[in-house]
Amino acid sequence: MPLDKSPLDPADWDEFRSQAHRLLDACIDHLANVRMHPWQPVPEAARQHYALDTAEDGKPIDILIDELVSNVLPYSTGNIHPRFFGWVHGTGLASSLLADIVASTMNSNCGGRDHGAVYVEREVIDWCRRCFGFPEGSSGVLVTGTSQATVIALAAARTHALGPQSRRNGIQDMPKLTAYAAEGVHNAIVKACELIGIGAEALRRIPGGPGGAMHLDSLAEAVARDRREGYQPFCVVGTAGSVNLGEFDDLAALADFCAEHGLWFHVDGAFGAWSRLADPPWNALANGIDRADSLAFDFHKWMYVQYDCGAVLVRDETAHRAAFAARPAYLEGQDKGAGGGEPWFCDYGIDLSRGFRALKVWSALRAHGTQAFARAITRNCELAALMAARIEADPGLRLVRPVRLNVCCFNAAPADWDGEAQDALNATVAKNLQLRGEAVFSTTRIDGRTVLRAAIVNHRSSASDIEESVSLAAREADRLARS
Ligand SMILES: *Cc1c(COP(=O)(O)O)cnc(C)c1O
Repeated sequence: MPLDKSPLDPADWDEFRSQAHRLLDACIDHLANVRMHPWQPVPEAARQHYALDTAEDGKPIDILIDELVSNVLPYSTGNIHPRFFGWVHGTGLASSLLADIVASTMNSNCGGRDHGAVYVEREVIDWCRRCFGFPEGSSGVLVTGTSQATVIALAAARTHALGPQSRRNGIQDMPKLTAYAAEGVHNAIVKACELIGIGAEALRRIPGGPGGAMHLDSLAEAVARDRREGYQPFCVVGTAGSVNLGEFDDLAALADFCAEHGLWFHVDGAFGAWSRLADPPWNALANGIDRADSLAFDFHKWMYVQYDCGAVLVRDETAHRAAFAARPAYLEGQDKGAGGGEPWFCDYGIDLSRGFRALKVWSALRAHGTQAFARAITRNCELAALMAARIEADPGLRLVRPVRLNVCCFNAAPADWDGEAQDALNATVAKNLQLRGEAVFSTTRIDGRTVLRAAIVNHRSSASDIEESVSLAAREADRLARS
């Protein structure tokens, strides 16, 4: 190979262009007709096509594109379909498809330095800051998702509690830190406690009332007990939208409590933080979120933006930097040139090399405007209320808890079934509807029993999607119960 030719760039850009246009058309056709593409199992034949073997020789671009269109594109998670309500899976936006093309072309590394992508990311962070009422000067960074955002937030809280020398010396000779959260807290918080070295047991689960919110007196007792026993309470994690039921802690009360007791107040707002954009009454559920010391949230769930994209905001920029900033010689900044552009995002998180996630968020906000997101989120809450009403109207179904936001859990087993029979029936209903491509519900456990669960973060679902999916679940449950 001659040294003046790249072995990896297209040999013929005109051929690449026409093939790329063909691919773009296939992708847009897929999105425009997404109703025809529910989740389906990946057939063995397609999986065989994925085998790389030695991948010794490349294939012509038209073959690659045929493979992408036939063997990869059809087998999505299913979450782009209007009848997908499982787990908490965002749908993705056509506007972000365009952004991904540009981001991929630019191939920016957003760890730092002076280039367009970091200015775009700063604007996205600042929009979030205003959206959630954080003060000017707060810091933030886009990350893979709320799981990583939580690790960053709790690491900042830990370093704040133990002092910067804990970065050098570790925490083994330090006072034992303890954190507090509601019983329904997401496992991402548990993982974060493991990763910051305090251990899962150091996360105290505080019992809550019927709406899931931590009891403040139980919280106060737990903190006092830990202090008496020589622990160092450092952080309270409030939940804005619990994963199982979309329930909220009383964030304003927790903010007061943390201020009074000198604790870091973190909020897990993975999807529920976006209730701030909804109409009343939903927009009041997260009152007090603006008083958090740190907030973790996702764009890939309820802001409909493509995976993966989450963010962390930290009120005290100095505390945020103190936990992460480090500049070895090969990363020294410059006052001008490509090596300028302070502050660098690598000083606010784990990743040094990071992609241009911000562009898909920025493009979504540019294309649709905040008001359109407010309407879409409000509409999801209305659809969840509609789902709850349909369930209550169906003699074969029972709503497990009142719907607070956008999560609806229900039991499709006959009223006189309980225990494992109920568990098995609900699990089979979920599985069979998925396998037939009719609708995707997931399951969870409430009060120890398996129930069907819908988390509605889907901007494509209509009222009839909700009604028909509920009817399909009822019909399937009835069929199974009889057989
Ligand atoms: C999804 C979720 C998380 C984890 O977020 P990822 O983006 O999946 O990492 C944390 N908390 C809650 C309440 C969630 O719903």
